[in-house]
Amino acid sequence: MLSSKFRPWHVPVFLAKYAYLTAVRMPVLVHFEVTLRCNARCGFCDYWKTDPSSRATELKSFVDAARFFSPMMITYTGGEPTLRRDLEDIVAGVNAAVRVQYSTLITHGAMLTAERAKSLWDAGIHQFNISLDFLDDRHDAARGIPGLSAKIFDVIPMMQSLGVDSIRFNTVIKDSNLDQLMPIVLRAKELGCGVNFSSYTDSKNGNREGLIGETRIAELEAVTAELLSFKKRNRGVITNSDYYIEQIPRYVRGELSEPCRSGMRTIHVDPTGHVKRCPDFKTDFHWTAFRKYEPIECSACFYACRGEAQAPLRLSRIRDVMA
Ligand code: SF4
Ligand code: SF4
Repeated sequence: MLSSKFRPWHVPVFLAKYAYLTAVRMPVLVHFEVTLRCNARCGFCDYWKTDPSSRATELKSFVDAARFFSPMMITYTGGEPTLRRDLEDIVAGVNAAVRVQYSTLITHGAMLTAERAKSLWDAGIHQFNISLDFLDDRHDAARGIPGLSAKIFDVIPMMQSLGVDSIRFNTVIKDSNLDQLMPIVLRAKELGCGVNFSSYTDSKNGNREGLIGETRIAELEAVTAELLSFKKRNRGVITNSDYYIEQIPRYVRGELSEPCRSGMRTIHVDPTGHVKRCPDFKTDFHWTAFRKYEPIECSACFYACRGEAQAPLRLSRIRDVMA
């Protein structure tokens, strides 16, 4: 599911960059939160309540920050990044400043036309990650956007027909969608897309509705076993590591005790250029005053980025990348 913009010779180049960033203890992945504004209405996130006037303080360019960190992977996120009409300029500027990097755009997809996607693709986006928690209108209700799931399934083939060949669903595993995980994977496979799972957390705004209760842990274990079995037979569709999927029931049972390495492997830069360890922590300093983070005793979440940062490098991971 990696973009065809990349060729096999890129692999050693990326591996060398990964080794360098690891050696100098700089983040491999930088998330640029280009805006905190959002026009969805998710119950588990308060970003949509961001005052529209915050637009005035959003950085026009992330080039200097990108050049400073020079990461291997860059994510444009929010809020809803496609609300920024100048997103193409931001992406193109960063792309020119950091040549060896893989850029992803995370979006709810409601405003993503095939033409906008192509224009972002041409500006330098290598992968689109579209949020999708249900295949049907339960997704629309959860995000507060009528017709959203149908719109997503309409736009994907149109994006692909314009040459956008790397699309993934970002799916949050929660109490209400355990029955949807395998159907989403199968639909993704049918469409030539990938799926990246994250575990639900109430650490964003305290909403406990999506937490998986004790009575459903057996069901969760069964579905994660099914995901792993599918993944072993179909590398390249589910993009999490085997390790991440295996740990989800442990997280839900409250058994995770490993320190969180967010802030070391990954960081978030907010719309004003301030850095935070992870999306749910407050900012610590401006990027121009960056100080390296240490591991922290926190298990408030098990987002994919947190889980993957502590995943060991196994043969299965190499098989995933090669697929
Ligand atoms: S989860 Fe994403 S789509 Fe939903 S309100 Fe927050 S930023 Fe918007
Ligand atoms: S576990 Fe890590 S990523 Fe999650 S909230 Fe705590 S510090 Fe942030």
